[in-house]
Amino acid sequence: MDNNITKTLTAAHLGEEHQFDEESDIPEHRLAPLTVKGFKVDELIFTQGFVNYCDIDKCGGGCCHSGVYVDSKEYENILIHKDDIISVMDETQIKDPAQWFDGEWIEDADFPTGRATGTQVHDRDGGISGFTEGCVFLDKRHFCSIQVAAASKGLHRWAWKPTYCIMFPITVTEATITYDDSHSVDLHYCGPNGAGNYVHSVYEAMKEELQNFLSKEEFEKVEAYYQANRPRFEAERIKNSLVQISL
Ligand code: SF4
Repeated sequence: MDNNITKTLTAAHLGEEHQFDEESDIPEHRLAPLTVKGFKVDELIFTQGFVNYCDIDKCGGGCCHSGVYVDSKEYENILIHKDDIISVMDETQIKDPAQWFDGEWIEDADFPTGRATGTQVHDRDGGISGFTEGCVFLDKRHFCSIQVAAASKGLHRWAWKPTYCIMFPITVTEATITYDDSHSVDLHYCGPNGAGNYVHSVYEAMKEELQNFLSKEEFEKVEAYYQANRPRFEAERIKNSLVQISL
């Protein structure tokens, strides 16, 4: 299983319709016969196994080890709220906003504004995640300071959080909603090597996140397709999740 998706926690198409004029690495036979909010849907999200939910106590926030690309609007929004974010950071974190982003901008049509920049990573104790570096916004508890700051102001926990952090391990590449296997492969708890931990599919674990991304109405189209084909997806998921035990 390899999508050859090289974007790490990237690619946003919030609120836009898209032309599918790019070559995708996702094989045609895996694409569901539906389009939602302008996106195609890779059936891999229905068949890839996943843990019950993202549990920081069990994974240590390993998915944050390499940071994230944020759309230029998300970048601006994070800086608007820099004082609130700094106020919840701990002594292990960099509190200078000038050091929060890598200073390089990429052009990528997968982002709403077509421009994105990466968050900086710094050396840190990754604890049970096993990583030795992490996003500047990752605190010593392995919580995201952007999320903590929004919640501390009484806002929704995702109010200021980058889209691809919310969505992970679901991502979007070339206008297709898919599973980010290239970034998941190093995650021992929930990634492709964590098969013994799976209890359901990536899709089932990430319904709230997907609805947040798509809108309720568009999400319901995905849900209807999933339910109509659920026996097929479940059979494939279970087959793929079998753990070989050597005696
Ligand atoms: S912005 Fe927050 S959720 Fe995203 S990679 Fe950084 S610490 Fe993790």
